[in-house]
Amino acid sequence: MTVGLLGAMVEEIEPLLEYFKNYEVIKYADNEFYLADYNGHKIVIAYSKIGKVHAALTAATMIEKFKIEALLFSGVAGAIDENLHIGDLIVASALCQHDLDITAFGHPYGYVPEGKVCYESDDSLRELAQRVAKENNVDLKEGIIATGDQFIADEKKKEWIKKAFNASAIEMEGASVAVVAHSLKVPFLVIRSISDAAGMDAGFDFDEFLKTSAKVSALFLTDILDKLIAKS
Ligand code: SAH
Repeated sequence: MTVGLLGAMVEEIEPLLEYFKNYEVIKYADNEFYLADYNGHKIVIAYSKIGKVHAALTAATMIEKFKIEALLFSGVAGAIDENLHIGDLIVASALCQHDLDITAFGHPYGYVPEGKVCYESDDSLRELAQRVAKENNVDLKEGIIATGDQFIADEKKKEWIKKAFNASAIEMEGASVAVVAHSLKVPFLVIRSISDAAGMDAGFDFDEFLKTSAKVSALFLTDILDKLIAKS
């Protein structure tokens, strides 16, 4: 099968490129796509650049041009749930856009007509992730991830997002990938490892823990990938 592995920043896919070692590089849509052959399966790796628009473009490109059949996102996120600590892993049960706001017209936050507030991850991929976590003794949390084009480093904003969306973690790409994958009918999964707590110290913590947390997430993703292709 053909599987897409997507991150937002180069640090989020570097552990994947090290893992697959040999790959071909294809330049397209102002980006680079790394194609690896993995035990007879095709793996397409890329980092989108930060934010919802870049992530949507890269996810759509992976699906339409590279014909991926499943999309696995790996990266780091800020914790909203106080039970999530630096380096912990979370799989998104569903993803929503916290900065999408046409509430002036009586709609809920995160909603536009013909869209949904929350986009759910593929059930079988989420179950697979939980099974892999159990087998590897990894404590994999599950919860709603809120996405927006803002780095959140503010307790008040964080509390608002927690209340408005019942979110456990926050980042800047997941929900846009979810919308694209859902619309183009490709199963997807978003895994994140915590880099900061989205409060006052978030910028400092992010710089400190980006690489280690990104690696935790990427390596866990390769374990999921192994099980996924073994099933195909
Ligand atoms: N330091 C980077 C910017 C990082 S933006 C630079 O200067 O280029 C934060 C990235 O990590 C985004 O891709 C986002 O998905 C994720 N992220 C981690 N913590 C976050 C937080 N507290 N709020 C929003 N996104 C966060």
